Amino acid sequence: MVEKINITFLGTGSAIPTARRNHPAMLLRYKSENILVDCGEGTQRQFRKAHINPCKITKLLITHWHADHVLGIPGLIQTMMLNGYNKKLEVYGPRGTKAKFEQYLDLFIHKENELDIVIKEINNEVFFDNEEFCLEAAKMDHDCPAIAYSFTVKEKSRLDKEKLKELNIPNSPLVAELVEGKTIEINGKKINGKKLIYTEKSRKITFVMDTRINENAIQLAENSDLLICESTYSKDEEEVASEHGHMTSVEAATIAKEAKVKALVLTHLSQRYEAIPKVILAEAKEVFKDVIIPEDLESVEL
Ligand SMILES: [Zn+2]
Ligand SMILES: [Zn+2]
Repeated sequence: MVEKINITFLGTGSAIPTARRNHPAMLLRYKSENILVDCGEGTQRQFRKAHINPCKITKLLITHWHADHVLGIPGLIQTMMLNGYNKKLEVYGPRGTKAKFEQYLDLFIHKENELDIVIKEINNEVFFDNEEFCLEAAKMDHDCPAIAYSFTVKEKSRLDKEKLKELNIPNSPLVAELVEGKTIEINGKKINGKKLIYTEKSRKITFVMDTRINENAIQLAENSDLLICESTYSKDEEEVASEHGHMTSVEAATIAKEAKVKALVLTHLSQRYEAIPKVILAEAKEVFKDVIIPEDLESVEL
């Protein structure tokens, strides 16, 4: 069984929230990893509405320090502390993140010595890499230091645990040999590891929040299974979008097309399209077919 990656759109609006769309926040869940990308004001209530416990958060990725993406951080951390958060929280963000995050802690979190937080400022780089997955960042083109992120689960040979159970194989160092595809002998019975393993394909998800269209975004998103991209404006407002450091529906779809991604999610919608997200969707579809605009609290799984 392939371990699923689940992404919940906690907030799909932009600078000004609406009754329907809260400020930006997305939660990616994979195994025990819970990665929050941005944390707009009110994100902690979105967690409650989605019935997800914020104490499960392992990493916070900040795309940039505009209020709509970060105002929810102090309240969320306070709640996590009140609920006995006991993990090490890893915070990543662009240049300036360390000082700004520490100001937050100074202002609002009075028992910060009880918190285990590591804050890292990142650039164009793979900034986290373990056996299971890696995280990469790329600099974007906004009105302040801004970055986009990608999360990639690596291709891996995995042992089919259910088959293992059926065969009644005890947990022993021999299991490691089965993962390598070796044949082992247990209780006089020969077991071929190759028949118990399957390949879990690599999967990639890219988050491109506030930015003008740029080459870095296309490169980072290359071959993603899912691109989650800001689409603040309609195609008729290309100039305004660029002036404010944002993209139109068509520009977001162009990134998806040029990066050859499999599917596109548009988010960070301006309040102006509250009643007509279908216009944004139809415009994007002219360039890239497989596209959706989720509502708050909707999830996708891959
Ligand atoms: Zn924004
Ligand atoms: Zn912004």
